[in-house]
Amino acid sequence: MGRYEIVLTTDRTMMSNHHGKEFLGFLATGPALNMPEGLWLWLGAPKPKVDSEGKPIEAPYGMRKVEAKLLEAGFRVAIIDPDHLHKHLDSMKILMLGHHDYFAYGPPSSEWWMIAGKEPINRISFRKLMESPVVRKAKEKGVKIIAGGPGAWQWLWELEYWRKWGVDLVIEGEVERVIADIVEKALNNEPLPDYIYVGPQDSPTIEEIPVIKGASVNGLIEIMRGCPRGCRFCPVTLRSLRFIPLEKIREEILVNLRAGIRGVLLHSEDVFLYHAEGVKPNPKAIMKLHKLARELVGEEGAIGWSHLTLSTVKYAEEKYRLVSKLMDEIILTDKQRFIGVQVGVETGSPRLAKLIMPGKAAPYPPEKWPEIVIDAFRIMHENNIIPAATLILGIPGEKPEDVVKTAELLDELKHYRSLIVPMFFVPMGAMKNLDWFRRNNVKAEHIEVMLKTLYHSTFWAEEIMSKYYLRGAKMAPLRIMLKLFIRYVKYRVNKLKPKLEELLRH
Ligand code: SF4
Repeated sequence: MGRYEIVLTTDRTMMSNHHGKEFLGFLATGPALNMPEGLWLWLGAPKPKVDSEGKPIEAPYGMRKVEAKLLEAGFRVAIIDPDHLHKHLDSMKILMLGHHDYFAYGPPSSEWWMIAGKEPINRISFRKLMESPVVRKAKEKGVKIIAGGPGAWQWLWELEYWRKWGVDLVIEGEVERVIADIVEKALNNEPLPDYIYVGPQDSPTIEEIPVIKGASVNGLIEIMRGCPRGCRFCPVTLRSLRFIPLEKIREEILVNLRAGIRGVLLHSEDVFLYHAEGVKPNPKAIMKLHKLARELVGEEGAIGWSHLTLSTVKYAEEKYRLVSKLMDEIILTDKQRFIGVQVGVETGSPRLAKLIMPGKAAPYPPEKWPEIVIDAFRIMHENNIIPAATLILGIPGEKPEDVVKTAELLDELKHYRSLIVPMFFVPMGAMKNLDWFRRNNVKAEHIEVMLKTLYHSTFWAEEIMSKYYLRGAKMAPLRIMLKLFIRYVKYRVNKLKPKLEELLRH
């Protein structure tokens, strides 16, 4: 017999710790290639450990924040693994959903989908959840369904599913300030709007952002919100900048350690902007943050970063030698031999950089963007930082010569250990209303860039896996399967090459 009136859940691709390797989660954004769907799903998103009620030990961070807010407001709420929802059917009044990418419209899912012509696993898995007998039964019983999270915007493109599955409310934006009121209304059967957009004026203050009460996937902890750089395609930039105080960060790391997660993944749009003045890093604050993280997780635990901006990497190293200092003095240990991070290259064209992301190069001028990228990649290579970089193809305003510049930049990055993934433009942020880059807009220059990134990434992926990632006997099955997969991709690309070259000639 369940005891929670509010149940938070999501589909398997999100409810997983991805074998403790955040990066493997990206597999769930693609379709199953050359292997059964179940095996692919296991590779990218194995089932998490749960307790007898079906509560996962680790759960997505954003859902943990909503759970914490509702617990503090006195509701009976829990995050439940999708396989255990049936245990809570009798008590459940509200089913809350969270997701990064409900319908696979976000990058890189949409790109996989476009290239492979096959629905990505995350979309299939979410649809299966919504059409499962337990969710259908909940709906029949009058349970209200509320969907939120970073992928909430995608419901606006799927009105049919919205209606068909009986989703009562979709809420977009940071919800901490408003969620308790909404839930109260839903429980009292008061009318709810179909859609709520929480704008920057309703962004929660630091005091309104709660400390998580249960562990987050792979020890992810938010250290700040927002980003001051103002790239035109980015939704994050619409949010105000807030730094989470060290004391709260400490509390959250301790929550994770108590749950047995020996590591911390510092989450920010740019970890080096923690307590920065504008876009110039604050070395003291960054060192303090990392010292705290190392002190808490110990030499055995790993420190991770979510994102960095390439201009900050260059500035931090050239001005303060901060990158090498951090790596040598705090991050690298006998147990931790590297750190992975997501970065955005986006384009190799200074013209386009100036047009769509003039702030991304700051404090350097956008005209220097390719140089900044190369310098930052070199600094990261020398310091055992492995970037997973994105490129955006098809940004409105892009000209063929811009894509050629990106291809030239890729040649310069050849020697630096990294993964580079091209993504097709998806309208978000200030560019929300512009058209999507569709399959028939793919030109010869785009194919050249895609091929270059494929060669680059498959070459380095093998090296990274053998020397840095998925080492040891425990990881051997995963390592072998991923290596086989990389070889398969190489084989397919080589087979397709003559056709693509033919296309490039025309
Ligand atoms: S630097 Fe990154 S997070 Fe900041 S606005 Fe640009 S794309 Fe968004």
